Amino acid sequence: MEKDLIERSNYSSEIPVYQIPGGVHPTEHKTQSNSQAIAKLPLADELVINLKGQAGNRTLPVVAIGDKVLKGQVIAESDGVFSSFYHAPSSGLIKAIEQRPIAHPSGLTDLCVVLETDGADKWCELTPAGDPSSLSRQEILSRIFESGIVGLGGASFPSHIKLQRQQGIDSLILNAAECEPYITCDDRLLQEHSEQVLLGAKIVASLYSNNSEPGSELGIIIGIEDNKPKAIDALIQARDKLKFQNIKLAVVPTKYPSGGEKQLIQLVTGKQVPQGGLPADLGIVMHNVATCFAIYEAFYLGKPLIDRLVTLTGEVCLNKGNYRIPIGTPIEHLRKASQVESECTAIMGGPMMGFEILDKQAGIVKASNCIIFKSAQTLTQAAELPCIRCGACMDACPASLLPQQLYWHAKADEFEKTEDYNLFDCIECGACAYVCPSNIPLVQYYRYAKSNIRDQKIEKAKSDKARERHEARLERIERVKREKAEKHKKAAEARRKAAEAAGQTDAKKAAVAAALARVNKKKAQASQETDDNTTNQATDNHSKDESS
Ligand code: SF4
Ligand code: SF4
Repeated sequence: MEKDLIERSNYSSEIPVYQIPGGVHPTEHKTQSNSQAIAKLPLADELVINLKGQAGNRTLPVVAIGDKVLKGQVIAESDGVFSSFYHAPSSGLIKAIEQRPIAHPSGLTDLCVVLETDGADKWCELTPAGDPSSLSRQEILSRIFESGIVGLGGASFPSHIKLQRQQGIDSLILNAAECEPYITCDDRLLQEHSEQVLLGAKIVASLYSNNSEPGSELGIIIGIEDNKPKAIDALIQARDKLKFQNIKLAVVPTKYPSGGEKQLIQLVTGKQVPQGGLPADLGIVMHNVATCFAIYEAFYLGKPLIDRLVTLTGEVCLNKGNYRIPIGTPIEHLRKASQVESECTAIMGGPMMGFEILDKQAGIVKASNCIIFKSAQTLTQAAELPCIRCGACMDACPASLLPQQLYWHAKADEFEKTEDYNLFDCIECGACAYVCPSNIPLVQYYRYAKSNIRDQKIEKAKSDKARERHEARLERIERVKREKAEKHKKAAEARRKAAEAAGQTDAKKAAVAAALARVNKKKAQASQETDDNTTNQATDNHSKDESS
């Protein structure tokens, strides 16, 4: 049997270390792979590069089938804030851009760029950034973005987004805990490249001003488990050589999952990230040491993220160790290089949080820190038994949740209740399932509930949007109706006024005509009277003449 907990650092922590609730001590299995120097494997004939990061949107290919590419050349660009650039991991020919099986628990296919390598492994021209201290904040963020750097601790979250927030950040924590059994790539990276990791961390720290001590550099804490004594020594030597005295080592006891973001923050600061909150709410930003190494390479060497350290291990793996592996290398290629029988099972990630790769033609992704090869026979899942309400899961939970309640409600599809029990604070560490005497795959229930809740939220958002569109349409129709009616009313009013005005004109005309008629009548009467008088006078005169 492998000797567990074989070597502990005698180096005591430089800052106080606090407690976290729960946690478990699974057999470490780390000595299988942490003693050999980082090596390379023969290049695969074909690289299958999945363009969708774990935490991001898909990136858009900028190459076409038949294109020849050089190592490091951009092959896909970010289509939004939650995605990152992809670069050719080697030189060769773009053979296909198509759906291929991907390294995902679902075993589904997704869009991949398939690169047929030419064996020359020829780089494109690389442009190092020069002195990073002379660069502006925006220049630093742009280079991190364009170099395709994502969090290499497992989440694959695009680093430029995590680094956006500037205000209120007081400390940078480097996560070197690497608490999952079997995985040793960060340990080995620090043993061999601590100096480069710290130079990368310095670039990250330069993005922030120290709010606690204006004018001074941001404090950096490295959280590392005490089962990595050689890495701890290497870090101290590198820090002293570089004279980076603002870096403090927090050596934490080995316990799973001390490397969880919230858990490590609590261990090294004593502070708890608020429910639903972010480390930045506490003035903390955390990055994995492998991410800092990738940042170092992007600035000092001009290298984009095209490969990563991967631990190849497991009882049936004959080539155990840590290898620098191009992104997109098929698991099948790694199986053959590890001299593992074809009827094996490959687990990506550790035994606690990892998942089985259902199709070994899938390529490794930026988040792939470990492949554990197991004999297919040894991986038979113990039968799931009824919950005996022993409470062991609750004691093991590092997030102080009630895993048993979450399980019952998830099983009964009572998703609202799982949310009441803070399902989304579950980090899916698997500590509860590890201690469960009934072999209940608790994390699978939580993932099931989470994905249902997410689906329901997506559906709700869709129907809310459809309802809003419908309401907006009805409102538009009503508005058009109102506007038409208003228009008609105004037109009728105008007509009425016009008619009224026309009526008034006619009356005036009639009055004038009547007046004229009266005047004319009077004139006629007057004229008649004059004529009569004249006739009468003439008659009188004639009579007078007759009589005289
Ligand atoms: S550990 Fe397993 S059996 Fe015990 S309470 Fe939790 S779910 Fe039930
Ligand atoms: S998987 Fe979730 S519920 Fe289980 S121990 Fe981890 S955080 Fe707690």
